[in-house]
Amino acid sequence: MEINRIIQHKKSSVSHFKPNYPLLTSIRDRKTMFIDYSSIKTYFCKKFDIKSTMSTNRTFTMIKPDAVANGHIGSIINDITNAGFKIIALKYTKLTDETAGQFYAVHAERPFYKDLVSFMSSGPIVAAILEKDNAIEDFRKLIGATNPAEAAEGTIRQKYAKSIDANAVHGSDSDENAEIEGNFFFKADERF
Ligand code: UDP
Ligand code: MG
Repeated sequence: MEINRIIQHKKSSVSHFKPNYPLLTSIRDRKTMFIDYSSIKTYFCKKFDIKSTMSTNRTFTMIKPDAVANGHIGSIINDITNAGFKIIALKYTKLTDETAGQFYAVHAERPFYKDLVSFMSSGPIVAAILEKDNAIEDFRKLIGATNPAEAAEGTIRQKYAKSIDANAVHGSDSDENAEIEGNFFFKADERF
């Protein structure tokens, strides 16, 4: 299925759920289809006043190509572990244009998408699953604002990033997306 058709499908079927992330699902021809289960779940939990039972203690991160190229892998991992995060999975790898496009498909219609995809596939990255109480929120605090110029003193982006596009690290924005993003990189036997 073409990416545009995938996005069209997502729009026409679930746009009223205000999708914020596509779930990757393998379908008949083993190509990838995107369905926004995260927003569907949020919608139904809200509608029926159900509390999400999903774990809140894991997040997913990437050390982006700029931080890798600038020699910050060690310092960033040090900051992460000093902040109390346990490493569950860790991988030094490189995205292709295709896999970076899939990972960031949620941003497909934003003006920076093409540049983001080519930047994220421009060099190796470090991917990791991290564990800590309140992982999503605490990790977003640790990395700071998307734009390093606005990131708080002492945050990873303030210390190691130079621009809003090359901003050193990724951090999941919800439990559901942490799970999806972790699954994008790691099999069960790669987690400890
Ligand atoms: N990004 C960009 N220009 C922008 C906004 C975002 O290049 O104006 C890039 C940046 O690398 C960011 C990524 O797109 O980390 C994803 O954007 P998002 O809004 O999800 O920010 P994040 O969750 O990473 O803080
Ligand atoms: Mg984000």
